[in-house]
Amino acid sequence: MQVDTYNQKKILRKDFLKRRSQLSDTEREVINRKIFNRLIRLSEINNAKNICIYVSKSDEADTICFIEHLIRLGKAVYAPKSDKNSNEMTFYKINSLTELNVGAFSVLEPSEKNEKYIYSDKNDICIVPALCFDRQGYRLGYGKGYYDRFLNDFNGIKIGICFDEFIKEVLPRYNTDIAVDMIISDVKEYCCKGGK
Ligand code: ADP
Ligand code: MG
Repeated sequence: MQVDTYNQKKILRKDFLKRRSQLSDTEREVINRKIFNRLIRLSEINNAKNICIYVSKSDEADTICFIEHLIRLGKAVYAPKSDKNSNEMTFYKINSLTELNVGAFSVLEPSEKNEKYIYSDKNDICIVPALCFDRQGYRLGYGKGYYDRFLNDFNGIKIGICFDEFIKEVLPRYNTDIAVDMIISDVKEYCCKGGK
């Protein structure tokens, strides 16, 4: 069963990576702008003091404009640093995008000298990336389980962002997979069951 799930996930990952890379720059820009406009209106975001957010690269759903927006609003913004040995992430505070440096997987990462994020408030937000989400909020990542490990101990609100055409009815899942509470796409907001 687990072997089947592994292979099913692998096939889906390949397919979604390909489809995502085939979007034109213009399509991507339009979609990203729509997601940004939804995010900035979310009451969950406006009520949060601390926001953990990935720094997008290449063809991922863009977070750069949103990070700038959050810093301007005075939110405490934390970006992830990945440890390739343990497959775990730690989030560190960033005061500006200029503080980021290229790290693991060619992703821009924060300095370990900055303040570490510690799980605290139930109103904290984690913005979760994915290749694909299903309607229950389960996700397909790059296959290393970084977010499953992090979210396992995270007590705040988990918000996925995703291009709408990459949201599926049901994804194969492991019992370590953690669902998000809501998904923001370019078309709508999905309320998911979330949970563990
Ligand atoms: P992704 O979520 O990145 O798409 P998977 O869900 O396929 O990746 O998980 C990759 C691997 O990480 C799996 O072998 C999974 O069992 C493992 N994993 C996920 N979460 C945990 C956890 N909390 N503790 C230990 N291993 C985990
Ligand atoms: Mg997973």
